[in-house]
Amino acid sequence: MSTFSENMEKAERHLARFRENGVLNRIDGELVPAAAGAYFESISPVDLKPLARVAHSGAKDIDRAAQAAKAAFPAWAAMDGSKRKKLLHKIADAIVERAEEIALVECMDTGQSLRFMSKAALRGAENFRFFADRAPTARDGTSLRGPNQLNLTSRSPIGPVGIITPWNTPFMLSTWKIAPALAAGCTVVHKPAEYSPLTASLLIEIAEQAGLPKGVWNLVNGFGEDAGKALTEHRDIKAIGFVGESRTGQLIMGQGAATLKRVHFELGGKNPVIVFSDSDLERAADAAVFMIYSLNGERCTSSSRLLVEASIYEEFTAKVADKAASIKIGHPLDPDTVIGPLIHPEHEKKVLSYFDVAKKEGATIAAGGTRHEGPGGGCYVSPTLFTNARSDMRIAQEEIFGPVLTAIPFADEAEAIRIANDIDYGLAGYVWTADITRGLRVSDALEAGMIWVNSENVRHLPTPFGGMKHSGLGRDGGDWSFDFYMETKNISIATAPHAIPKLGG
Ligand code: NAD
Repeated sequence: MSTFSENMEKAERHLARFRENGVLNRIDGELVPAAAGAYFESISPVDLKPLARVAHSGAKDIDRAAQAAKAAFPAWAAMDGSKRKKLLHKIADAIVERAEEIALVECMDTGQSLRFMSKAALRGAENFRFFADRAPTARDGTSLRGPNQLNLTSRSPIGPVGIITPWNTPFMLSTWKIAPALAAGCTVVHKPAEYSPLTASLLIEIAEQAGLPKGVWNLVNGFGEDAGKALTEHRDIKAIGFVGESRTGQLIMGQGAATLKRVHFELGGKNPVIVFSDSDLERAADAAVFMIYSLNGERCTSSSRLLVEASIYEEFTAKVADKAASIKIGHPLDPDTVIGPLIHPEHEKKVLSYFDVAKKEGATIAAGGTRHEGPGGGCYVSPTLFTNARSDMRIAQEEIFGPVLTAIPFADEAEAIRIANDIDYGLAGYVWTADITRGLRVSDALEAGMIWVNSENVRHLPTPFGGMKHSGLGRDGGDWSFDFYMETKNISIATAPHAIPKLGG
C-alpha cells in the first residue's frame, strides 16, 4: 500500500488534466464544452480550493446528447447480446486497470477516504461484469399456455434512457445504474452530480476506449434544475433511472409527467438498526458503527437510527460512543483515515445544524457534536452519537446524511417495530438478535425494502436493491434492473381453431 505522501503525489498527477482542461461533456464520442460556453467551478472538500471548471450545460446540450443516444439506439439494441457481454467485460477490465486513478480522483472530489474508495472502483467493475454476463439472456421471456393458446413473452430495450446520479460514491453508483441499461440494450445520457463530477468523465472515457460505439453513452454535466430537469422532460428519453434525495424524486415525477416517463427512484433513508438484548453486543456495535460512520455517513443505507432494548441501552450506547470517539478523522488520502471531510460547505452546514437541533430537542450528545479541524481545513465533522432521543424528534426523523447517529431506547419487540416504522422512509433495516424466529418476525414487520439480520449491509448483486415509502420506486439488481430498462411484450398464438363469436353476417 502506498504512503500518504505517495498518494498525494499520484493524486495530483491524475488531477492535473482536470485542472488544465476542465471537465467537458462527452456527446456522440466527442469531448465538447456546454453549448452556451458556460462553466461552473468544482471545489475539493479537503481544502475548498478549485479542482476543475466544469461544463455548465442546459437544455441544448441535453437535446444534443438525447439525439446522439437516439441515433445510436437501433444498432446497439440489435447487437447480439454475447457481443455486448464481451464489450462490457472489456469496460470492467479497463476499470480494474485504472482503479487506483479512479479511487484517488474520487477521494479528492468527494472527501471519501481511500480505504473505502479503493474498493468502490473495483465494485464498479463487478457491476459491469454482473450485468455483462446477463446481457445474452436479457431478452428472454416465458411461455404461458392458455386454453387453445400459447403465449410467448419477450423483452426489448425501452430506448434511450437518462441516468441521474448523486454526489455520494458517484463512480460506483454510476456503474450500478449504467451497466444494466447498456446490458439491456438501451443507450444512455448520464447527468452526474454537480458536487462530484470528475470520475463520471473517467468512466465514459474508459468505456469508449474499450470500444463502446459512439453515442451509446453520453455525458452531460450541469446542475439539476437545468440539465437534470431538461433530461427528465426530453421526449426521446424513455425512462429515468434516478438516485438522489426523496424531494428531488418528487420533482422528477412531476417533470416527467408530460412525457409519461418511466421512473426508477433510489432515494433517501433513515434506516433503523434494532438491537435486542440477546444479540452479540460487540458484533452489533461494530456493525452499527460501520454502517453509520463509514463513507462519512454519506450513505443511503446508513444505520442512522439506533433502536436499543432499554435493558442494555446505557451499556450499548456507551460502547458505541467509545468506538465513535476513537475513529480516525483525517485527509482522505491518508491510508489510516476512516472519516474524511463532508462533500461541500453547504452540506457541512446542514449536518452541523443538527447539533443545535439535538440540544433544543433535549437529546444528549454522547460523542462528537463538533466540527473537526482537519488537514486542509475542509468540511470535517466528528463522528457523533445522540442519546436519550425520541422517535418524534427531528434528529430521529430527518436524513442528516453525515456521521451522525441517533439512539432511541425501546421496551419490547412491538415497540421496536412501531418506532422503526414510524417514519416516511423505508429503504433498509438491520436486526440484531440471537433468536432467529424473532429476527424473521421483526424483518417481516419492518416497512423497508432491504433487511439484514445479524449483519451489516453486505451486497449480493442478484438480490433486489431499493426502498419502500419515500425511499424509492422499483428495484435494481438481478433481473429487476432489466425489467425497468426493458419493455415486455406478450404474443398470443391460437393453437386450435377455437370458436370465434360471430357478430353480424
Ligand atoms: P440530489 O437529489 O440533490 O441530487 C441528485 C441528482 O439529481 C444530482 O445529479 C442533481 O443535479 C440532480 N437533480 C437535482 N434536482 C433535479 C431536478 N429538478 N431534476 C432532475 N435532476 C435533478 O441528491 P444528492 O444530495 O446529490 O444525494 C444525496 C441523496 O441521495 C441522499 O438523500 C441519499 O440518501 C440519496 N441516495 C440514495 C441511494 C439509494 O440507493 N436509495 C443511493 C445513494 C444516495
